[in-house]
Amino acid sequence: MSQFRLSRRPDIGDKIRVSFEFFPPKTDEMEARLWETVQRLEPLRPSFVSVTYGAGGSTRERTTRTVKRILTETSLTPAAHLTCVDASRAQSDAVIAGFAAMGVRRFVALRGDPAEGVGACYRPHAQGYANGAELVAALASHGQFDVSVSAYPEKHPESPDFATDIEMLKRKVDNGATRAITQFFFDNDLYERYVERVRRAGIYIPIVPGILPVHNFAAVANFAGRCGTHVPAWLAERFDGLGSDPQTHALVAAAVAAEQVLDLVERGVDDFHFYTMNRADLAFAICHMIGIRAAQELPRAATSAAA
Ligand code: FAD
Repeated sequence: MSQFRLSRRPDIGDKIRVSFEFFPPKTDEMEARLWETVQRLEPLRPSFVSVTYGAGGSTRERTTRTVKRILTETSLTPAAHLTCVDASRAQSDAVIAGFAAMGVRRFVALRGDPAEGVGACYRPHAQGYANGAELVAALASHGQFDVSVSAYPEKHPESPDFATDIEMLKRKVDNGATRAITQFFFDNDLYERYVERVRRAGIYIPIVPGILPVHNFAAVANFAGRCGTHVPAWLAERFDGLGSDPQTHALVAAAVAAEQVLDLVERGVDDFHFYTMNRADLAFAICHMIGIRAAQELPRAATSAAA
């Protein structure tokens, strides 16, 4: 059983950087919730916020619209996710060029999952980029971008072993990736062991832990099973019996995620990516606990005097 150690470092907020991930909303109601979330998290000054890209480009318009709105209406730096699924090279290149013309300078480059969902057999498009590494190379050929890629502390379910998995990460780094963001995990020992393996393979880019606050344990456990993420027994125990008690569930989720993050801080990690699921509450609370506070606004009088 792995439990987290609580941080004793009082100065952590000064050193820690965070980024937040959103998905493009499908309905007006979801859109309104996303923008409330963005507004709530913006004062925490994340390094960037990323917007996911649906299988087969299914969210292309919505991803583009969301990224554009972040660029034009907020002070945030957006990172556009891109996948290779069901896209020819020409189509992927056009999407990259479109984002670049809009002013996007950060990307998260991914192979993606088949349109049928996680676990289905992946078949690259005959004229497309075959994997994350090829997409990173394509981005590098388009311009100078900050490119993040995926990493898998428990290895990708399709990888036969860690050596194969880390070899793919190495190819992505060799092609220009400057940061890896991990699949979510709940066992920090597995993350630490993975980073050791990655360093032994001569890979030195930041391996930023992807933190998934558990908004709904049943849904997360189900998704974890498909992604190859181990759900420790102690975690299931924490949420046991809270299926119809959302308030307590949210309190426990905040405590669990904060413990995980504080334990990682204790192990020397100072960069975190939060899978927000377009909800601000847990990400905001966890940031607060690790010392990340909203930027102070200038008092109105000072603002108008300076104007
Ligand atoms: P790659 O880096 O190309 O490969 C991942 C691993 O799979 C490699 O280590 C390799 O060893 C193994 N592998 C790949 N292909 C094969 C093969 N043919 N045979 C054997 N092994 C193979 N999905 C989306 O659809 N949209 C998103 O916006 C999105 N964002 C994500 C963000 C992050 C930070 C992460 C971690 C995942 C995200 N995903 C997203 C999910 C991702 O698309 C899936 O995990 C997908 O299955 C692999 O994509 P990848 O870029 O990691 O693949």
